[in-house]
Amino acid sequence: MERCVFCRIITGELPSKQLYHDEHLTAFRDIHPVAPTHILIVPNRHIASLNEAAPEDERLLGSMFTLARQLARQEGIADEGYRLIVNTGGHGGQTIYHLHMHLIGGQRMRHPMG
Ligand code: AMP
Ligand code: ZN
Repeated sequence: MERCVFCRIITGELPSKQLYHDEHLTAFRDIHPVAPTHILIVPNRHIASLNEAAPEDERLLGSMFTLARQLARQEGIADEGYRLIVNTGGHGGQTIYHLHMHLIGGQRMRHPMG
């Protein structure tokens, strides 16, 4: 069984500012926020990256978007807008190999490309 840093945050073995937890998903604040709101949404089951997600995970992946929308509303940033990012692999800039979605907002973002 894999026990990466996010796996240990999900179970509470490592501390985090947890905002949401249910049977399938956990959300907590990023330790190095790049904007006033920076939340990570992760599946409780260890999936290393989007590349390892299976077709059967489609519902789980969809629920990450639904939770992101809900948390954006809760944070009061929904109307101004926000950004969702899933870094994948080396070129994507992924540093933690447990699938996660960044929810970033509370300020205007620079152009995403480059
Ligand atoms: P990525 O570069 O997409 O793999 O993003 C990994 C994110 O995890 C980074 O934004 C880190 O700041 C964040 N991070 C790393 N360790 C922790 C931790 N213990 N608690 C909260 N966020 C973390
Ligand atoms: Zn993990």
